[in-house]
Amino acid sequence: MSLMLEVKNLKTGFDIDGKIYHAVDDVSFSVKSGQIIGIVGESGCGKSVMSLSIMQLLPKGIGKITSGEIRFHGKNIEHQTNDEMNKIRGKDISMIFQEPMTSLNPVFTIGSQIEEIMLNHSKMSKAEVRSKAIDLLKQVGIPRAEKIVDEYPHQLSGGMRQRVMIAIAIACQPRLLIADEPTTALDVTVQAQILELLKSIQEKNKMSIVLITHDLGVVAEMCDEVIIMYAGKIVERTNVDTLFYDPKHPYTKLLMASIPRIDVEVNELSTIKGIVPSLKNMPQVGCRFVDRCPSAMSECSKITPQLAFIGDQHEVSCLLYEGCSTRKGVS
Ligand code: SF4
Ligand code: MG
Repeated sequence: MSLMLEVKNLKTGFDIDGKIYHAVDDVSFSVKSGQIIGIVGESGCGKSVMSLSIMQLLPKGIGKITSGEIRFHGKNIEHQTNDEMNKIRGKDISMIFQEPMTSLNPVFTIGSQIEEIMLNHSKMSKAEVRSKAIDLLKQVGIPRAEKIVDEYPHQLSGGMRQRVMIAIAIACQPRLLIADEPTTALDVTVQAQILELLKSIQEKNKMSIVLITHDLGVVAEMCDEVIIMYAGKIVERTNVDTLFYDPKHPYTKLLMASIPRIDVEVNELSTIKGIVPSLKNMPQVGCRFVDRCPSAMSECSKITPQLAFIGDQHEVSCLLYEGCSTRKGVS
């Protein structure tokens, strides 16, 4: 499989009262053609900021990439102009978001929103894009596509709107789809249908997916490789089987324990105590998980753990493992 996306030592910061705080702090990973990579973590771990960095959709004047590289098929895209990115967005790399109601424009019909992206990126005629829009709606499992094409977003259910978002995202057959919590706002049955749909489109179009989620159940269904993020850093990365059978980082283990299981009777869902440190309160030295970690040791607030290989295709950043404490005191 060839390399499609490479993120190298990416740092993305936000300007708060004249000071830069990094929401993504020295993150590196790559995505091969046809691969589905999951990026997992609670809210505030930097997952969405990472995807907005790749798309160059960070809030203007506030968020910016301060260092590192993003390469798409070998070409650096981290400092492209908006015009250059407009040629890539939607055509080569597409994105779907959690809440389709805010991503769809309420004043335009479903059809015109799908057609717009094709008109921007191809030389198809109006009639051609109209019939392609209906085809796409059918492809994503929307019934009565010929009628729905002329309806407005508010006339559809949440699940149907998410299908429309997927139709827009795949309209130009992108090579990479970034899906940021694509099923979070949907009920469980619809979630499963949307994931199945994404998987079947991925197989058919041979595209890659970066799937951002806080739900490890979704990862188990969909992904080849998984990256666990905590407070702007990668804390564990491995393939999906290793993650489920041999998780190493204490944060990953707690995320695992919080997956609801139907075979075990529990009175209360296990959740992780405490919260992710805010950007302004990020520890500068030591492990960022120290306040919530059941295995914390005294050195954990003095030595910053580094990501290190602990096995074939398995990296972790925690002082419980050899090789993670090589660069002392550097955050
Ligand atoms: Fe817990 Fe220490 Fe490992 Fe951080 S470095 S996850 S505090 S054991
Ligand atoms: Mg998010």
